[in-house]
Amino acid sequence: MEQVAPLAAAIRDADSVVALTGAGISTASGIPDFRSDSGIWNRFEPEDFHYRRFCNDPKDFWEDRVELHETMFGEKVEPNPAHDALHELAEEGYLHTLVTQNTDGLHDSTAETAAKLIELHGNAHRVVCDSCGRKTEAGPVRERVESGERPPRCGDCDGIFKPDVVLFGEQLGKSDLQCARERSRNADVFLAIGSSLSVEPAASLPRIAERNNATTAVVNLDKTPFSALAEYDIRGDVTDVLPALCEEIAD
Ligand SMILES: [Zn+2]
Repeated sequence: MEQVAPLAAAIRDADSVVALTGAGISTASGIPDFRSDSGIWNRFEPEDFHYRRFCNDPKDFWEDRVELHETMFGEKVEPNPAHDALHELAEEGYLHTLVTQNTDGLHDSTAETAAKLIELHGNAHRVVCDSCGRKTEAGPVRERVESGERPPRCGDCDGIFKPDVVLFGEQLGKSDLQCARERSRNADVFLAIGSSLSVEPAASLPRIAERNNATTAVVNLDKTPFSALAEYDIRGDVTDVLPALCEEIAD
């Protein structure tokens, strides 16, 4: 952890700090990851959550979707010390942009602070009408699915509700992506946290920052494709490293 002190100093001096988070920040909250042996894709077929299936068979799609939600959020899921540390950094003005690949909504509290939250893959706690684009809370809609309304329909236009996440076969939101790239380009410090940095577009964000002379850091249990390029490559548990970083900055 000897890299924490100089990284903290860089964050204190920076005008623009961007953090990117991936699945590794949420496993400590009990959310299964997707790609490991015990991961989601060992229990479900990715094809079941393809946009094509939503279009062709929304009834069955929603049935599986409710089951997936149970698997991901069955136990009560709460933010962990790594989420809390980012929230604190944002509140104290040290974190300006938080980009996440996660759809679990565990950064929601940070969205209420000064940092801009960009959810690249959407948020599983919301649904969006596939026709009129109206967004609403997912909980009550899932309850309607459970009591037999399949697929659930929008009260405004009778369109079909879709989880407000980027399904396989769907494009990422253009403006979110543009904003994430723009902020990465202008970052003084870029932190990649709990992301394997193997999936685009997240993989390219630290590279954009690095090319534009940002101080870059990777905090992850395993080596990532960007680790060798990062100024600080901290291999460790995000729930240890981030609170330590936060403490160091406050000192
Ligand atoms: Zn609608």
